[in-house]
Amino acid sequence: MQIGLVTYKPELVEGYDVHVYFCKWVDGQTFPAAKGMQNDVTVLCDAKAIRDDPSIVSVSKGGPALRRNRKLNFAFDFVCPTHPTYRKKVFDYLDSVAKEDAQGVTLNLYHFADQGFCTCPRCTDLFEKSGLGWTEWRAKTITDFLKEAKTHCKGKFAVEMFPDPVLAKERFGIDFAAIADLVDYFHVPLSSRDYFTNYWVDTIVRDFVAILKKPVVVELSAEMPTDEKMDALLRTVAYISRHNLMAVLLLVHDSENARQVARFAVHNEAFREWLKTHDFPKMQKIVDNWAKYY
Ligand SMILES: [Zn+2]
Repeated sequence: MQIGLVTYKPELVEGYDVHVYFCKWVDGQTFPAAKGMQNDVTVLCDAKAIRDDPSIVSVSKGGPALRRNRKLNFAFDFVCPTHPTYRKKVFDYLDSVAKEDAQGVTLNLYHFADQGFCTCPRCTDLFEKSGLGWTEWRAKTITDFLKEAKTHCKGKFAVEMFPDPVLAKERFGIDFAAIADLVDYFHVPLSSRDYFTNYWVDTIVRDFVAILKKPVVVELSAEMPTDEKMDALLRTVAYISRHNLMAVLLLVHDSENARQVARFAVHNEAFREWLKTHDFPKMQKIVDNWAKYY
């Protein structure tokens, strides 16, 4: 199992095998792709694009897919997935990423906002003309979008997902079986402010490893300001290292944050003893490697 980073800074950090760089953000900011890294592109959540042209937002009977719509529980604002000019804008950006010497592209938030979306006139028309059921049409729309997006990408191609292994197709149009044919691996984000309670991480990881037909990497949040939080995070990484994962990725603010986690693990004798006593060979290997640098 590899250990890696998901980061907002395009910097390689010693002791980490995989580097994923956020080059297009949910607020609409875009940055030049990072050479030699996996570049993570937010696709349909784009607060700036929606501010500039509110007509592109995805809609439902319960209103628009916006954070300020309190009937819903959205963390981001969603563009309608069938909007032609917005799609073109995303593909143009992916073309710019493909021109750089990047390792590959990971797409995130490329799906419907939730079950009742999107009921805009264009989606309603496309759905009616398709002759398919609602769930099938939505899944096909997202799979076809990913197929087209992939033609604009170079290198390793991966997708994130809303981490629901059971209802992803019904809610978001994410058809894991169909998408498995397109991607090199799946990137499962399991963000949290802390991992003091971690049974849910182990459970969801287990479910995804069982159902996804391609390798799996899991992302955990590591923007940890306290020793207690870092300790809980590292023990959670140790537990999920028992599953068949390609990598665990730590979401950090910057390189110093990444070094702080590694340094904490290396110099935490109790933690290293705990790894030995309870048999976590994959995690031990990672910490032993960190000890060469930190
Ligand atoms: Zn729509």
